[in-house]
Amino acid sequence: MLHIARSKITRMGRARIVRALTAAGAAALLAACSAGSEPKAPPASASAAPGVSGPAPIPAGPSPESARTAQRARYGIPDFAPAPPAQPITLPAGDSVEFLRRIPTTQKVAFLTIDDGYLKKPEAQELIAAAGVPVTLFLTTDAIKDDPDFFQPMVAAGAVIEAHSVSHPGMRGRSHEFQRRQICESADQLARWFGKRPTLFRPPYGEKDATTLRAAKECGMAATFFWTETVHKGKVRYQEGSTVQPGDILLMHFREAFRADFVGALKAIHRAGLTPALLEDYIPVPPAPAQGSPAARSSD
Ligand SMILES: [Zn+2]
Repeated sequence: MLHIARSKITRMGRARIVRALTAAGAAALLAACSAGSEPKAPPASASAAPGVSGPAPIPAGPSPESARTAQRARYGIPDFAPAPPAQPITLPAGDSVEFLRRIPTTQKVAFLTIDDGYLKKPEAQELIAAAGVPVTLFLTTDAIKDDPDFFQPMVAAGAVIEAHSVSHPGMRGRSHEFQRRQICESADQLARWFGKRPTLFRPPYGEKDATTLRAAKECGMAATFFWTETVHKGKVRYQEGSTVQPGDILLMHFREAFRADFVGALKAIHRAGLTPALLEDYIPVPPAPAQGSPAARSSD
């Protein structure tokens, strides 16, 4: 009970933080807000009584939300209804983690994931901030080590960074120790760069075997992921059917066509009557390792 309550609060807190940060980002772009104003407060009564001292009401300028709306219109990003309160799934206990290609939910949500991080176009930062939708970034540490700070504005805009190996190898058939190092060391490095250790892992190319799922568990991962749709050069490719389904996970990359892919993915989610939600909100957080980093423990 306590655990559930705490995780709920954490999720609620994160949602508020995301909203606040995205609002703050938009506000900073506008530079229109006066210092000391309380952005959360609803507008007080419109007319001030004559003779009452105090600052005169500030004429309403463009709000952070209207600024984001304008940016979305410029990029062709659809407007979404807020995501419903997340109903986290249940994951089985055991020595291995699940490999999920979608989230088993009937809630009208889908999940946008963006992988690798080799190409770092500033437009990606702008698009993620403008969209104001939750995204999960599965980053390869070798891909981003030349400039990990490139991803900080995305984190500030609400993106969550998860693990996608050190050097992007095919994992299937590799030794336990090899796979474990790829998962544990990438998670440890991402924690050093971004202050939060990943709890989710996507194996490169979506390739895994039983060793991958066991090593992921040992490295503190809660689950591993495949996908249901890929987006490339703006085109969404469906593994089943021709529309995004509730719980689907869309995969795109930090590639040259980032804008077309990002907007294309969001339009596909919007066409399906769904709203982007945060993958992490649907996955129970694994208990913290008893002591030290899992990577530091001896292997079996
Ligand atoms: Zn990849």
